[in-house]
Amino acid sequence: MPSPSVPSPLVPLPEDDAHYMRLALELGLSVADATGDNPAVGCVIVRDRVVVGRGATQPPGGAHAEVMAIRDAERGGHSIAACDLFVTLEPCAFHGRTPPCAALIIAKRPRRVVIGTIDPHPRVRGRGLAELRGADIEVVLGVLGDDVRQNLGAWLARFEPIPPSCGR
Ligand SMILES: [Zn+2]
Repeated sequence: MPSPSVPSPLVPLPEDDAHYMRLALELGLSVADATGDNPAVGCVIVRDRVVVGRGATQPPGGAHAEVMAIRDAERGGHSIAACDLFVTLEPCAFHGRTPPCAALIIAKRPRRVVIGTIDPHPRVRGRGLAELRGADIEVVLGVLGDDVRQNLGAWLARFEPIPPSCGR
């Protein structure tokens, strides 16, 4: 038996990012047929290399994956400021049927936000990313990007190609 890996209080290693993004992808896949015209996004929140929050897109009008994961972590007593947030699709940056996730994430100030791919929706397209970075939150883009893009292919195809000038 290999010895179980011991959670470490250290900053997540870069190679861990793909592992947590894979978990976020699986959460997104779990709601693939239940999100109506919203993309089936998954999100995990990680503290000291342990997943403390999980979320997936709710049916139309319901909360987005990031909101669900933040609520989940906070219910467990975790401050998001001590955590890294992994989300398959760029957080939204506009008031649609729900408030923008980027603003919520900025208010919670996670240590890092790791994103699979840019949301090509005309009202996002790099704005979520820019808002996070503008608030001095570290953002990593493109972790497992190919897998995420395959997973969200139908959503991406609705809005792509996007002009190269749009905030990558
Ligand atoms: Zn959102």
